[in-house]
Amino acid sequence: MLKIINPSNEEVLAQLESDTPATVHEKFRRAKVAQVDWARQPMVVRKEFLKRFRNLLVEKRDDLALTLSQETGKPITQAKNEIGATPQRIDFFLEHVEKITAEELMLKEGGGDRPTLEEKISYEPLGVIANISAWNYPYFVGSNVFVPALLTGNAVLYKPSEIASLSGIAIAKLLWEAGVPQDVFAPVIGSGAMGGAVLEEPVNGIYFTGSVATGRKIAAVAASRLVKVQLELGGKDATYVCEDVDVKSAAESLADGAFYNAGQSCCAVERIYVHTSIYAAFMEHFLETVRGFVVGDPLSPKTYIGPLAREAQLAVLDEQVKDAVSKGAKLLCGGKRDDRSGYYYEPTVLTNVTSSMQVMRDESFGPIIGIAEVQNDKDVVALMNDSSYGLTSGVYTKDAQRAQRILSQMQSGTVYWNCCDRVSPRLPWSGRKQSGLGATLSYEGIRTFVQPKAWHLRSA
Ligand code: NDP
Repeated sequence: MLKIINPSNEEVLAQLESDTPATVHEKFRRAKVAQVDWARQPMVVRKEFLKRFRNLLVEKRDDLALTLSQETGKPITQAKNEIGATPQRIDFFLEHVEKITAEELMLKEGGGDRPTLEEKISYEPLGVIANISAWNYPYFVGSNVFVPALLTGNAVLYKPSEIASLSGIAIAKLLWEAGVPQDVFAPVIGSGAMGGAVLEEPVNGIYFTGSVATGRKIAAVAASRLVKVQLELGGKDATYVCEDVDVKSAAESLADGAFYNAGQSCCAVERIYVHTSIYAAFMEHFLETVRGFVVGDPLSPKTYIGPLAREAQLAVLDEQVKDAVSKGAKLLCGGKRDDRSGYYYEPTVLTNVTSSMQVMRDESFGPIIGIAEVQNDKDVVALMNDSSYGLTSGVYTKDAQRAQRILSQMQSGTVYWNCCDRVSPRLPWSGRKQSGLGATLSYEGIRTFVQPKAWHLRSA
């Protein structure tokens, strides 16, 4: 049995029957058969099912948010925000999928007395894909994969994180209620080992969201099978605050970027570099904002920071604080587990930080931030790029040209000017370096679920 623990009080929320390698095998076998019929359905039918799913999310948002909040500790307002914004992503896929996967005629010549020659490209589904997903935004990161995968005619074995199993089951039930056949979207419930069991099956594509460590294992399996793999991994996202900004508003925006969802966002702000001439003022506003965050029961609409979803992460944060302080960092607030029951960590701000400290190198994935003072743009570009990750980076300045100059040098898949922690369905979501391989969202995030077929057609 799989125990689901409520991270805000450490009580058992539910016990679920886990899949086994045998049930996973059976789900794969059935999905393989069902996918053929699913792909034969006209696009308009598949779109209608996904549109119904979208509407069910709108209708049931509050109930779904309650479950998400209870099992992951996400504050209820943020859980509602996530589920409330998912339909916009689905709308993007619904609007563009036909255009992106339509046949393309590349050449047509001849005719009359002469034989004709046509070259065209068609786009076909991959088959059965594995969607191995993270718990921090199950609706966002899940739907980035399974919605375009289903629309383009694939079947999906969906492995939610064990921490978000109840939400994973809720997603499956809504898709089935919307008309997607059960064998076409099959949830696999259980621990990471069941993710491993999914990969034992001859799936036709692997779409993974999670940590670098697990991503490496997944990539190794994919390499041995020569199967398509896409990885959306972690980040150590950096932002630079220039001296010409409205300091208060930049500080408030970045405190939100760092602490939203208790810092458990792949694109959370994890490193801040502030120009020396506004550093003192920035720190004052930043600390005031952080001290104003309400930490507490995730079910209270007033709560901004809830518990961490995983107890093990508390030790990671403790270690980062210890390491930073031992190397000369100043701890301005927080720095330890909160006294109450549940997996709470105090919102933590460290300054005097350097690139040699874990807090500036390794993903924190918690309510903790390192803030460094910098002298000029040249130094900061080198510091921001001095990372094994490359998910997002940003700059706050009134000067558009300066922003353009700095952002064009950033080694990351996404760059932000005067904003942070933002994802758009219209733009590709991709990581460079160890932050991942491939892209979800945008046209890229549709095309990744189909394979091209080249047609050479000569009439005689
Ligand atoms: P993990 O890597 O621990 O887990 C991710 C998924 O993989 C879970 O479903 C997990 O199951 C499963 N899994 C674990 N071990 C295996 C295995 N050996 N084979 C197959 N599947 C396995 O990541 P977290 O859940 O902790 O997610 C947090 C990470 O995800 C952070 O690094 C974050 O930055 C990243 N992330 C990246 C995003 C992006 O778009 N770039 C978006 C969201 C998160 P189980 O949980 O049951 O163990």
